[in-house]
Amino acid sequence: MTKFADSKYVKALCDITFRSYDHGWDERNGGNVSLRLTAAELAEFDDLTEVKRTYDLGFDASELAGQYFLVTGSGRYFRNVIKRPELDSGLVKITADGSQAELYWGFEDGAKPTSEFPTHLMSHIARLKVDPNQRVVMHCHPTNFIALSFTQALDERKLSRLLWQMQAESLVVFPEGVGIIPYMTPGTNEIGAKTAAKMTDYRVVMWPHHGIFAVGADLDETFGLIETVEKAALIYSQIMAQGGQIKQRITDDQLKELAQAFGVEANPKFLA
Ligand SMILES: [Zn+2]
Repeated sequence: MTKFADSKYVKALCDITFRSYDHGWDERNGGNVSLRLTAAELAEFDDLTEVKRTYDLGFDASELAGQYFLVTGSGRYFRNVIKRPELDSGLVKITADGSQAELYWGFEDGAKPTSEFPTHLMSHIARLKVDPNQRVVMHCHPTNFIALSFTQALDERKLSRLLWQMQAESLVVFPEGVGIIPYMTPGTNEIGAKTAAKMTDYRVVMWPHHGIFAVGADLDETFGLIETVEKAALIYSQIMAQGGQIKQRITDDQLKELAQAFGVEANPKFLA
């Protein structure tokens, strides 16, 4: 018998949630992640035959009808997923009319998907329109990135350029830059819609004074994206801690050379 609990998907979720916690980005129940899976990928598992519960989604997710999502639970701690994935995560399927999610595995002690699930699903919908390989939405609280939302203008061009200038890796990993929404109350459809609208143009969206939303084709790539953004923010923090006197920096010409060398297209609105 092939069990979903033993699958590479659950193992990968356990690994990424613990790594994220270990980086200091998921205090208490901070953070949530969803991984899109297809019926074909799940066909090998024998323990996904029965709908255990259903959840109202509160918005129209019919564009994702029939898609499965392995998602972390509302109020659950990233620190614990590795020890008890069957309690703190669940595998749900979006119903044909897009109004509900059906639970096939996990959340065994009655949990439900993260309160940010609407933001996740809206972001999956938006990204799938520009990237058919879209699989993962991840939210967490990277310290230095959040700190930038206090000290810097909430200006996508300025913030993206700042992050690009902190290390050569940044432009290569997120050449489109970083999107920013205004500060909003989390857990609502409104913040979901605002975040998803940014996801058309960006894979990273700043939630000022709160955290980051990032998307990607797999868990590793999405986590790596967050790591790279946070590393750039950390370098900026260290520069300020060392007195803030910048003696030299990566020039715009050097950024353009970098983009050319790595075959990426820098957002022309940020690097003309
Ligand atoms: Zn959060």
